[in-house]
Amino acid sequence: MIEKVEGIVVSEVDYKESSKIINVLSPQYGVIGIIAKGTKKVNNNLSSVSSKLTYGYFHVKYNSKGLSTLLEVDVIDKFKNIKRDISLMSYALYLLELADRVYKHDNDKQIYELLIASLKKIDEGYDYKVIANIFELKMLDFLGIRPVVDECVNCGSKHDIVTISSYKGGYLCKDCARGEVIVNIKTIKLLRMFYYVDISKITKLDISDKIKNELSQFIYDYYDRYSGIYLKSRDFIKNLEKISS
Ligand SMILES: [Zn+2]
Repeated sequence: MIEKVEGIVVSEVDYKESSKIINVLSPQYGVIGIIAKGTKKVNNNLSSVSSKLTYGYFHVKYNSKGLSTLLEVDVIDKFKNIKRDISLMSYALYLLELADRVYKHDNDKQIYELLIASLKKIDEGYDYKVIANIFELKMLDFLGIRPVVDECVNCGSKHDIVTISSYKGGYLCKDCARGEVIVNIKTIKLLRMFYYVDISKITKLDISDKIKNELSQFIYDYYDRYSGIYLKSRDFIKNLEKISS
């Protein structure tokens, strides 16, 4: 049966001598494994459309029980700007890996929609680190470890929220904060806004470096503490940033 599957390549592995298997995250079927034949040969028409980040309609000989076979791809968006810049590309690859991992945990098609919306924003030139943070925050829901950003995580008070704690799992009010680092009030508000914002509707991200650092610090600590996720692409970003800083 020939099927046209909308999706994005989230990972790829070599297969036999000259082919590869791509894993495509799709809203219809979740992650499907597709053989792309002969992609390592020169002049193969599938080689340019079977690498990570390829986003389009995949025409496949569909096999619900095993690997499908790739026939051709109609690319929807080439993400040209992302591909031109190693920093953007490293974050895009990280989001792909994270989405793939989160999907294994909870196969919700919103993960796909959030991934595509985030990649589009990065490609349009929005701050890629902030977009990645927003995506990471939203993924916490699907991992079943959402932080408490509506009230104090300890006592439930909605008033006098003075800081955030990855250790406690979210907001802390002035009565419950016990020696935690006090973050900027803007960081507290933005954390909640990021958690609820519709990524596709973002039109402006004007955030100081200090606030950005506080936000990403919280999110990374939170992931380290509760997600149990280790991603190679995240390590790659860390090393890349060490070199360039
Ligand atoms: Zn409290």
